[in-house]
Amino acid sequence: MSDASRAVKLPSLDPAAGRIMRLGIMGGTFDPIHYGHLAVAEQAREALRLDLVLFMPAGSPAFKQDARVSDAEDRYAMTVLATAANPAFYASRFEIDRPGVTYTVDTLRALRAHYPASVELFFITGADAILDLLTWHDAADMARLATFIAATRPGYDIVQAQRRVEASGVGFDVRYIEIPALAISSTNIRDRVRGGKSVRYLTSESVIGYIQKNGLYRPGPDAFGTDALEEGEQHGR
Ligand code: ATP
Ligand code: MG
Repeated sequence: MSDASRAVKLPSLDPAAGRIMRLGIMGGTFDPIHYGHLAVAEQAREALRLDLVLFMPAGSPAFKQDARVSDAEDRYAMTVLATAANPAFYASRFEIDRPGVTYTVDTLRALRAHYPASVELFFITGADAILDLLTWHDAADMARLATFIAATRPGYDIVQAQRRVEASGVGFDVRYIEIPALAISSTNIRDRVRGGKSVRYLTSESVIGYIQKNGLYRPGPDAFGTDALEEGEQHGR
């Protein structure tokens, strides 16, 4: 293995002669990863016939510099746990092992350089994040490097997003997919844990166990749905 490929740490993909492989990249802060992310990736995999989806927790997220973001190792560990059961999912350390600010265009450039031309790149986002693409660093380059997949997300207007992408003049190839609505966000999960509320069924039991064991998001004593009565009382407020 060359020094360059050792540094890159990506799964090997070696398409048989004449075969095109389709590689999905699901980027995010994943603080924590939840069922919204997993559903988006799975539906994108199916709709676009992706061979593999890389889940890439961001190292130093370019847009969250001011916010408090959990340690990259914790976010990566939860990503490993959440994706373990799906053989088409792969949790990647690629961005967290890179120093400094993470730009998606740099990741796409590195993936493009790493894999043969017979591996096609598909960058997966929700309806909110697709709009960020327009303001991202080197948007035109990104458009050249990958096809984009934008999934519906409750609270965000995908039709308006599509209009704005088209009006931008940047030649993004975006495939819009409708997925079953899951109004789950990492922000809401963090807030619930902080407020001592249940996060069961919003993310996997394994991720919840990790949050609990490592004291992420400063959980209160009943943060994990173990006190059903108190939860019920809260609903009635
Ligand atoms: P935060 O609240 O911290 O911003 P988040 O839930 O938005 O977290 P991110 O890590 O910011 O999660 O998102 C990563 C990607 O997953 C983005 O492309 C985002 O649009 C998409 N995504 C996250 N949750 C959903 C969801 N419930 N439905 C559709 N797309 C989603
Ligand atoms: Mg977000």
